[in-house]
Amino acid sequence: MNENISTNINEIRKNIETSIKKSNQKVSDVTLIGVTKTIDIARIETMINSNVYSLGENKVQELLEKYDTLSSKHEINWNFIGHLQTNKVKYIIDKVDLIQSVESVKLAQEIDKRAKAIGKIQKILVEVNIANEDSKFGIDPKDVTKFIEDLQKFNNIVIKGLMTVAPIAENPRNNEKYFGKMYELFLDIQKEKGHNRDIEILSMGMSSDYEVAIEQGSNMVRVGSDIFGARNS
Ligand SMILES: *Cc1c(COP(=O)(O)O)cnc(C)c1O
Repeated sequence: MNENISTNINEIRKNIETSIKKSNQKVSDVTLIGVTKTIDIARIETMINSNVYSLGENKVQELLEKYDTLSSKHEINWNFIGHLQTNKVKYIIDKVDLIQSVESVKLAQEIDKRAKAIGKIQKILVEVNIANEDSKFGIDPKDVTKFIEDLQKFNNIVIKGLMTVAPIAENPRNNEKYFGKMYELFLDIQKEKGHNRDIEILSMGMSSDYEVAIEQGSNMVRVGSDIFGARNS
């Protein structure tokens, strides 16, 4: 890991291209989300200058602190990737392009309500707890189809796909089976029709395992420490 942000990004882009080839046509293009939690504005701007315009934040307060400064100068695509409390949806609804971490009907309902109030159709992903870990938020894989049906009643959200945070693994190859399962779920829900869904995003893979995730069909990776170095928090 280099200290140089733009060098790191070039390296990641090369790795992404290699992994796309290994995906056997599952993936043609991958969106790189730069995960900017705990990272200061100056370093984030170095990343933006390397043409990474999609940012991922996991805390409402932190996103709000950075939003004005960055969005006044750059065309940013804001992704919310952390656990979102329903009472905080109102603070970010006019700011986020994609809420990746929807894991309850109650949260979807609040997003729908707040989006409606400002005349927006909010893009969301459904977070899946693919390895059924107690420590993680997300829908049980076997309940995903039903969950998406339950969201049919909301007209001001559009479901764009699925997101997962895979288990912490010594060897990223250990997560291959989970990423493979996610890809199957993704294909399943793509087949079913619904008025508020347009399934095209499969968000999986972080610094430790994004290459394996892409090989298995991920088309959106969320990378923090491989861009900025280890976070000191
Ligand atoms: C922090 C975080 C990431 C990035 O993790 P790295 O290991 O630093 O790449 C990705 N996704 C989510 C949901 C995160 O909270």
